Amino acid sequence: MSALVDWPDALTQWYKKQQRVLPWRNQSPNPYPIWVSEIMLQQTQVDTVVPYFNRFIEAFPELSDLANAEEDTILKLWAGLGYYSRARNLHAAAKIINATGWPTQYANLKELPGLGFYTAAAVASLAFGEPVPVVDGNVIRVFTRFFGLPEDSTTQRMKTHLFDRLLPAVKTQKPSDFNQAMMELGALVCKPRSPQCPACPLQAGCFAFTNNQVAHLPNRPARKKVPHYPVGIGVIQHNNCVLIGKRKKEQMLGGLWEFPGGKQLPNESLTETVIREVYEETRLTVDCLDAIASINHAYSHFKITVHAYWCTLISGTPTPITTDALRWVSLDDLHHYPFPTASVKLIQHLHQS
Ligand code: SF4
Repeated sequence: MSALVDWPDALTQWYKKQQRVLPWRNQSPNPYPIWVSEIMLQQTQVDTVVPYFNRFIEAFPELSDLANAEEDTILKLWAGLGYYSRARNLHAAAKIINATGWPTQYANLKELPGLGFYTAAAVASLAFGEPVPVVDGNVIRVFTRFFGLPEDSTTQRMKTHLFDRLLPAVKTQKPSDFNQAMMELGALVCKPRSPQCPACPLQAGCFAFTNNQVAHLPNRPARKKVPHYPVGIGVIQHNNCVLIGKRKKEQMLGGLWEFPGGKQLPNESLTETVIREVYEETRLTVDCLDAIASINHAYSHFKITVHAYWCTLISGTPTPITTDALRWVSLDDLHHYPFPTASVKLIQHLHQS
């Protein structure tokens, strides 16, 4: 197949010269920062992760600090990174590891909350030297091109195929270097668009390069159109405070705080949405006044436009129907609570109003 006989060695040698300096690298192999960085890097770019990682490790220097922390404190540090179940799983896993010690094998690491195949392989290889390959989006892109694999690249079948195919290669190298080399090549050279093939250590053996297939691999089926929902939000003012609710743990964005509101129904005005949603969530009857702001935000599977309104209380006692808690908070104290990104943008508007 390949004109490049010892491609694992060529890749590892390239990594030793070209690797980026990152705060979780090149320390003595410590599973705690490696694990935190790998969880943060899921779905998130390195440049975004670095400041979050530094703040997180400063707040929780040891795994025991994380295990003993309040969930609100963790979510506050995570606010803006998205995919908040990662933070809650990190906390849950830290408690287990703190009580029972680190599992050092890939097979056992996989059992911890939030550590799937990929993160378990990353921690097992980078921290404990176990020769198991990591297979993430970068690795899938590099090796569907390098091996010339035309099948759907988004399936578990492809991940399993690549894991099996890369397993003999990782055994010939220092596992931490080889795995980081694969990921680094995907991030720096074999990019989704305009890969830098002339600078690639795998070029001589690359199927896609040799056969002019680089633009056609990996094979990713067209994504479905992402739905877009208008959302009405009420900022209820009462006694110099505003009302916020804590989302239920099992919900998306669970544990974060937000203003009451929800999706606009067909044939409903936005102010009607706000009044209905506030009542359904809190049993408060409110009057909807001036518009504050409209904020666009995209999640992985849908987009929203949040239309926020000032509201005044007419009657009722706050009752947490759809949240774990409701709280009256002054505008100056909102920064003590973890909010999702769209709410953080709204709070900036509140301070300017
Ligand atoms: S030669 Fe090009 S397509 Fe092939 S692995 Fe290297 S960067 Fe990717």
